[in-house]
Amino acid sequence: MPKNKIHKVLSYLFPNFTCLVCGCELRYQTDCEHICHECFANIKHADQPINNAKVVLKLEQDTVKLRKVIAPFTYNKEISKPILLLKYGNDGLTAEAFAPFMQRNINITDYDIIIPIPLSKSRQRQRGYNQAQVIADYVIKEKTPPFRKDILFKTKKTTPQENMTTKERLENQKDAYVIKEENAVKNLRILLIDDVITSGATTNEAASILIKHGAKYVDILAIARVEK
Ligand SMILES: [Zn+2]
Repeated sequence: MPKNKIHKVLSYLFPNFTCLVCGCELRYQTDCEHICHECFANIKHADQPINNAKVVLKLEQDTVKLRKVIAPFTYNKEISKPILLLKYGNDGLTAEAFAPFMQRNINITDYDIIIPIPLSKSRQRQRGYNQAQVIADYVIKEKTPPFRKDILFKTKKTTPQENMTTKERLENQKDAYVIKEENAVKNLRILLIDDVITSGATTNEAASILIKHGAKYVDILAIARVEK
């Protein structure tokens, strides 16, 4: 059987033993679980994983409600593959691979609650799970501070944003989130979790509503950030 066919069969039968980027068979201990040495060398570590949101987000300064933007990796071609797999059901392998790198950049005692960025009801139904929740499950192992899935909801099914400008993304996300109870986040320190931070428009929209309802501060933790 040709080599790439063997890889295909192997990755289908034993997803745990093949590289999430190139599909090669993983025979040795690597620096990143589920990713081979060569592919991991091509994944770019962020020069600065923890950033002031006002500095890195390409949004109008006075509209930035997030405090810190935290992401251990810079989004590139190599990391896009495992992140895409996460959206199409690879049972948390991607989250398991990157969780240790995410954990290193946060101090869990800085937060009162964790909120995985919600999907709209219809998208969640379609996908069967929320990838942000899958990441959160691997990153916040002890479940303290608690996950709160009952506070923030996405009401609007927004259109996929891949080809949108920042302005279009902002318009697309406007009023996309609601808070269930008026006082649910009052004085709370909140960590949002998502897969990728692109323009930050989505998470900033979520942060805006949390701040509006009295949250003390809101940070976002993701696997990777798009740096332009
Ligand atoms: Zn590889």
